[in-house]
Amino acid sequence: MIPLPEFESERVAVMGLGKSGMAAAVALRSSGARVLAWDDDAARRDAAVAEGLEVSDLRQCDFAAVRSLVWSPGIPHGFPRPNPVATAAERAGCEIVCDVDLLWRARREARFVGITGTNGKSTTTALLGHILSEAGIDTEIGGNLGPPALGLRPLGRDGVYVLEMSSYQLELVPNVRFDVAVLLNVTPDHLDRHGGMHRYVAAKRRAFDRQRPSDVAIIAVDDDYTRSIRDSLEAGADRKVIAVSVGSDDAAVVARDEWLTDEGCRILDLSGVPTLPGRHNRQNAAAAYAAARALGVPEERAAAAIPTYPGLPHRQERVATIGGAVYVNDSKATNAESAACALSSYTRIYWIAGGLAKEGGIEPLVPLFDRIVHAFLIGRAAPEFARTLEGRVPYTLCGDLADAVEAAHAMVAHDRPDDGVVLLSPACASFDQWPSFEARGDAFRTQVRALAAQDGGRVLQ
Ligand code: ADP
Repeated sequence: MIPLPEFESERVAVMGLGKSGMAAAVALRSSGARVLAWDDDAARRDAAVAEGLEVSDLRQCDFAAVRSLVWSPGIPHGFPRPNPVATAAERAGCEIVCDVDLLWRARREARFVGITGTNGKSTTTALLGHILSEAGIDTEIGGNLGPPALGLRPLGRDGVYVLEMSSYQLELVPNVRFDVAVLLNVTPDHLDRHGGMHRYVAAKRRAFDRQRPSDVAIIAVDDDYTRSIRDSLEAGADRKVIAVSVGSDDAAVVARDEWLTDEGCRILDLSGVPTLPGRHNRQNAAAAYAAARALGVPEERAAAAIPTYPGLPHRQERVATIGGAVYVNDSKATNAESAACALSSYTRIYWIAGGLAKEGGIEPLVPLFDRIVHAFLIGRAAPEFARTLEGRVPYTLCGDLADAVEAAHAMVAHDRPDDGVVLLSPACASFDQWPSFEARGDAFRTQVRALAAQDGGRVLQ
């Protein structure tokens, strides 16, 4: 937990009592602040009371007497409608910040890395954390991924915080200056909450605010939005800008044809890294490598650490091999765009898909259908997906995940392909049958491990 001496004897309001709000409230109270905690959800308020916190309805709060309002980034504060609590705080001149701002203020002697982008944030955060730890640097990773910011360990001047930053968090960090800020990619996402693409891009660009000439901006220049941000940052001389790319020559660090290169020198063959499959992960690897170098990790040490990256659960997680086929849990793929990443990483796929479909279903995946040997369809989207697959890919309607895994396993055992992949990459949300994508992926992993034990397969990791 992070001590916050700045707030001793101060009144601080905490809006939202999920993981990050609770950690903030507890850290503030331990530091001697008077915490006024609120959540619109009664169950969360009860949990806060059980923690011994003072629950107070912030809709009735006089913010003139409050030093700071700590806002949970998951709660919309400005768009589509201004939240009345945020408006009252603003009118009273009370700052509105998220927990990352408090962390930065409390540990200014440490170095901070912020990682943002529409996709790949968690992977790049975890990979960079791994490289730094392997290089012997005292590192904490968190933010949007893993422990909340104020639940991390206090680090000193040799320490590095690697923080995954969502666009919502970036709107609530008015003080944070990242020693290294990483932008991976920008594609339309969460536009309803930001009020359009323009505001969404502006939120992402905030990762570079307040940087100084000794700081570094790392930008993957593989889409028009990130290229234009790179151009505008390069036009000023406020920080060093390092471009990375998958394939383009217009960058210092490039991942092309499997090779990661730095200023034209070959650094690492990424095809030998099973935990980072696919083109999208080459972008993540290039960005994490460039960030590690910017933090002083020698080239050879960064290159040696990447192949031992263990991977993250539910993101093309290799669970087991059974009879020559590998079983992969990509439950995090809740839309077609994410499933495309996994499908384009393998050939000879036995694909488990379905759940609650997003608009457009799996139409965008048609160009990847020739990689699929057979599809096993589950959940509410099954009939719709079957219509898209009809005449192009053989499929089986399986109902639920357990049946789909059984059916795929039986088919693979019969086919005995050497390079087959049983891939759970649903292209759907999980909520028709599961409480979360994590629960869905956990169930897949448990079942696959049991099958591996039964059939003499090998559990990976
Ligand atoms: P985030 O934290 O931004 O949601 P993750 O690292 O958790 O990103 O990856 C989520 C999914 O996004 C992955 O399963 C993959 O399908 C896709 N993805 C990962 N990295 C990239 C990337 N660099 N570009 C595009 N898509 C990506």
